[in-house]
Amino acid sequence: MAGELEFPVVKTDEDWQRELSPAEYQVLRRHGTEQRGTSPLNTEKRSGVFRCAGCGQTLFSSDTKYESGTGWPSFFAPIKDSIATTTDRSHFMVRTEVHCSRCGGHLGHVFDDGPAPTGMRYCMNGVAMKFEEQK
Ligand SMILES: [Zn+2]
Repeated sequence: MAGELEFPVVKTDEDWQRELSPAEYQVLRRHGTEQRGTSPLNTEKRSGVFRCAGCGQTLFSSDTKYESGTGWPSFFAPIKDSIATTTDRSHFMVRTEVHCSRCGGHLGHVFDDGPAPTGMRYCMNGVAMKFEEQK
């Protein structure tokens, strides 16, 4: 688990539990994964931005969202400097974990089987983000 003190937004576990919904807390602070196909953001097609549900930082633009068919909201690129990654060796796999660069909240994983132009697939938990429409 990443050190809590590396991030600009630092709160105690009690604070997070109080401020987040149980589902948000489980993903953002406990590295949980939502059930595939459950997030309303899977079908979100409007233009706007996706913000961290923990601290509000903008993470992804709708311009980089695409239909991956995985059942999780997927993007081919994050907004610059909005995320950071670490190596996750849990569940007998080596994966690259994606977390918010501001509060350290766990967002999902990134894989190298995404579409052009980056070839990357940011596989996100919808519950870890809030969509904000921009017209
Ligand atoms: Zn955050």
